Amino acid sequence: MGPNDIDLSEPAAVLAPPKEVTRVLAVGKGDTLMGMLTNAGIDRRIAHDAIAALSTVFSPRKLRPGHELYVTMMPETEQADPAQSGVAAGIEAMQLVSLRLPETPIRDVQVSRLDDGAYEAEALEKTTEMAPTVASGHIQTSLYEAALDAGVPATVLNDLIQIFSFDIDFQREVQKGDKFALLYDLVTADGAIVDTGAIQVAEMTVRGELHRYYRFKDEHGFWDYFDEKGQSVRKALLRTPIDGARLTSGFGKRKHPILGYTKMHRGVDFAAPTGTPIYAAGDGTVEVAGRNGGYGNYIRIRHNGTYKTAYAHLSRIKVKKGSHVRQGQVIGMVGTTGRSTGPHLHYEVHQNNKQTNPLSVKLPTGKKLTGNQLAAFKKRQAELDSQYAKLDTSSSDVATAAGEQ
Ligand SMILES: [Zn+2]
Repeated sequence: MGPNDIDLSEPAAVLAPPKEVTRVLAVGKGDTLMGMLTNAGIDRRIAHDAIAALSTVFSPRKLRPGHELYVTMMPETEQADPAQSGVAAGIEAMQLVSLRLPETPIRDVQVSRLDDGAYEAEALEKTTEMAPTVASGHIQTSLYEAALDAGVPATVLNDLIQIFSFDIDFQREVQKGDKFALLYDLVTADGAIVDTGAIQVAEMTVRGELHRYYRFKDEHGFWDYFDEKGQSVRKALLRTPIDGARLTSGFGKRKHPILGYTKMHRGVDFAAPTGTPIYAAGDGTVEVAGRNGGYGNYIRIRHNGTYKTAYAHLSRIKVKKGSHVRQGQVIGMVGTTGRSTGPHLHYEVHQNNKQTNPLSVKLPTGKKLTGNQLAAFKKRQAELDSQYAKLDTSSSDVATAAGEQ
């Protein structure tokens, strides 16, 4: 027989087993597993057994629109009786072979039919890996846009802003031409990105001044960021006590005057949309929370014997007088209450009960690594520097900075 001849001696159709098919069923609003399976032609009693098995690894109540079911079935030899099976007349009766639900990007749950007709469930956890990634950019209009242009995921950008919120006033200090650079982790499973991990190296150059921090676990098991001398990034007060990614009135496109500290003004303003979260600049006790004349909705926090901070024009206040707050805790939302020309946070730092310039206040610094901890940090720093240098192909800035030490 030649290669193109077809062998017709065996009647293929007669003995071939019924063919398995896999259908992908998207969960819609109001769908139930039972309804989806019976609509696909599966007998109600079989569907019930399969769902009971699935329930041992996944609560069917957690099924959400957007979930997808991979249903593998083969045609039943007997056609179902609609009255018994729950399968509508005209739909082909199907035997359920398996049902797989990707519950999260790293976890699948699956039910499979055993030889005796019972169903058994299992959860399949995918192994994840960390993929170190670098990004860098020059700021043209805002850090936000520069970071998104460089492909930095929003969650990583938020982490970046938080790391530098202790040091940098994102409204006034960041200018066109300033730079950022990052080494961060992406979490992958089967080669696909499933999540973002932590920033390992964070760098910002603002007005020619380089700030660079490395992630390191201290002897108590806490992760924190430290500069090359082993000094923690943490300060007693935040310089940007607001969600920095949402600052609107950056340089060059000011819609209304944004004031810095002057003798007349005695505070700094951060322009951001109404509803932007405002953070407690430091740990402390709420001294005032309520209406306060031209300040509108107003909060004042006492941090210690020396420092207090105040927040004005809020749309909402989320703390009560007398309550204790932690640094970074959301205490209210940006608004334009009181004497105000548009949504912004008016922020004051009081030193010994006198308003002082938040930009010039010299704050006590946080923890400094010493001894074995400092040695372990230096080792980690060298690893991260070399990892960065290997991955970075776009710019020599960071490699140069590392080499200069
Ligand atoms: Zn103001």
